[in-house]
Amino acid sequence: MKEFNGIPVSPGIAVATAFIYDPKAPQLPRYEISAEKTDAEIHRFEKAAAKAKVDLEKIKDSVPNGGGSTESLMVDSQIAMLDDPEWRSRVAEEIRGGKNAEWALNDASDFFIRLLESSGDVYLKERAADISDVTKRVLRQMNTKGSDESISPLADLPEDVILVSRNLLPSDTLAMDKRKVKGFVTETGGRTSHTAILARAFELPAVVGIRSLMKEVKTGDRIIVDGIRGVMIVDPTPEREGLYERYRTEWQLRESRLLTLNHLPAETKDGKRILLMANIELPEEADSAVAHGADGIGLYRSEFLLMNSRVEDNEEEQFRAYRSVLEQMGGKPVTIRTFDMGGDKVVRSVSNAPETESNPILGWRSIRFCLDNPKLFKTQLRALFRAGFQKNLRVMFPMISGTQELLRVYKTVEEVKDELRSAKIPFNADMPIGIMIEVPSAAMTSDILAKYSDFFSIGTNDLIQYTIAVDRGNERIAYLYEAFHPGVLRMLRIIVQNAHKAGISVSMCGEMAGDPLCCALLIGLGLDGFSMSSAVIPEIKRIIRSVTVAEAEILAGQALELETVAQVRQYVEEWMSERFGEK
Ligand code: PEP
Ligand code: MG
Repeated sequence: MKEFNGIPVSPGIAVATAFIYDPKAPQLPRYEISAEKTDAEIHRFEKAAAKAKVDLEKIKDSVPNGGGSTESLMVDSQIAMLDDPEWRSRVAEEIRGGKNAEWALNDASDFFIRLLESSGDVYLKERAADISDVTKRVLRQMNTKGSDESISPLADLPEDVILVSRNLLPSDTLAMDKRKVKGFVTETGGRTSHTAILARAFELPAVVGIRSLMKEVKTGDRIIVDGIRGVMIVDPTPEREGLYERYRTEWQLRESRLLTLNHLPAETKDGKRILLMANIELPEEADSAVAHGADGIGLYRSEFLLMNSRVEDNEEEQFRAYRSVLEQMGGKPVTIRTFDMGGDKVVRSVSNAPETESNPILGWRSIRFCLDNPKLFKTQLRALFRAGFQKNLRVMFPMISGTQELLRVYKTVEEVKDELRSAKIPFNADMPIGIMIEVPSAAMTSDILAKYSDFFSIGTNDLIQYTIAVDRGNERIAYLYEAFHPGVLRMLRIIVQNAHKAGISVSMCGEMAGDPLCCALLIGLGLDGFSMSSAVIPEIKRIIRSVTVAEAEILAGQALELETVAQVRQYVEEWMSERFGEK
C-alpha cells in the first residue's frame, strides 16, 4: 500500500481500478464484444489488414530505386509481416477472448514486439519496429472516421475506473463515460482549473497535483481517491479500505442531511436574503441545480458548447441550448456568459482560434477573441437575445478589462438588436446586461463600469490569478493562489462598494463563492449573491442561515485590517470553528 497527498478539488470518496489515460499515446477504442460478434470482428480485422497490404504494394511500386533496393526490401518485409499466419491467428485468438479488433490487434502485436525485443538479436529487433509500423497502418484502416478523429478511449471504458492522468483537458472530461468514471487524479492542475470545476459539476471525487503520479500507478491497480482530504491510496490494505468505506458512508449521510434544507431560503439570521445560484457548463446540469435548491443559474459557461461540437455558426442550435436551460429552470433567473474560450479552455473546433501563443492566459481569448470575430460573436448574441424573449434571461460578458472595451461590446449588441428588429424577429430588447469583474483593471475602474452595467459578477478564479500573478492551473505555485490575500480582499471591497454606490447588484461566481470557509466573510463584504457548483449549495445555505450580517460585517472589517494571508486565514478559521465547531 502506498499513500500520496495532492490538492483536493472535488469532494467524495471513490474506490475502483486505475485507468491510465495518456492523450499523447495512440488512442484505441477498447470494448468487449459478445461471442456471436467475434466472426464479424475477425472479418473487420482481416479487411483492414488486406487494405493495408494494398497500400503497401502501392508504396512498393513507387519506390524510387525499384525492386531489390533497400527501401523495397523494407516494404517487402512489412508485407510479409501482414501475411504472417502466426500474428494473424494471435489477433483472432484475442478477439475470440472478447476484445474488439483494435484492442486485440494492439495486444497481439505487443506480445510479438516484446518477444522480439528481448531476443537481443539486432535483426529481430528491427522486425519489432516493423510490427509496430504495420500495426499502426492496420489500425488506421480500421478507423472509419479517420485516424485523427478516433473515438476517445474515455468514451468507451470496459469497467468502473478511476482516471489517472498527467493532465486532463476540459474536453477530455466532457468526452468521458460518466457512468464508468468514479473519480480522477492528475499530476497537474489547481482548485480552479476547469477540469476541477467539471469534476465538481459531475460530482466526481478528484485530487490533483500528485507529483510522480504516472510513475507510481499503472492501469489495473486498485486505488482510493479521497477528494475531501486530498489523498490517493494505491493498493490499499483491507483495513484501509474498510476505513474509507466508513468515511464514504459518513459523507453520504451528511450530504443527504443537507439536502433537507432545499426548500428553505438562503437567508441570514437577521433576515438578509442572499441569492444562491448554480454554475453550469452543460444544459443537462440544470436539473442538478434545481435538485440542490438553486435560486437560478448564476453562470452558464457557454463556451463548453463549442468544445465538442461545431456550433460557432449555428444560431439555432445555440438558441435551443439556451432555451432548454431556461425551460429546465422554470422561470428562475438564468445568467448566460458569452463565449469565454482560451486559457485552459482550448476550443479546437472554432475556426480562427489561435494555435499557440506564448502567454495564452493573457492572450487573444474570451471577449477579445469575440470582438475580433464579429460573425461568431453576433451569432451568439442573436441566439441569446432571441432566447431571452419573454424569459428570465440575463447576459454577461467575460474578461472585460475596461470601459472602452465594454463600449465596443455595446456597439455590437446594438447592431444585433437593429438586425433583429429589422427582420421582425422577436427578442428581448431590455435584457439585463452584466459583466464579469475578473481583471484587476476592471476592479479598479468598477465605479465607471457600473454606469454601463446592470449587474456585476465577480470571477475570483481569474481575479485572484491576475491579481497575484499566479497561474490558477499550476500545482507548483498553488500555495500562492490565495483568496485570503489582503490584496484580493481589498479589491473585493472596492468592487462591492462601487456596485452599491451605483445601485447595481454584485454577486460572485468564482470558486471562492462556494468555499464554506469564505462564506461569512463574503456576506460581511456585502455581496448580494453567490453562484457555485450545485453540489455545494446546501452547505453554503446552512452557513448563511446560521450567521447575521452584523457579525459577518465585523468579521470582514477585522479581516481587512490584517497584513498577511496566514493571519487572515487563521482569523477566519477560528471565527468559523467557534460558530460551527469545525474548520
Ligand atoms: C472566474 O474566473 O472566476 C470564473 C467564474 O470564470 P471561469 O472559471 O470560467 O474563468
Ligand atoms: Mg474567468
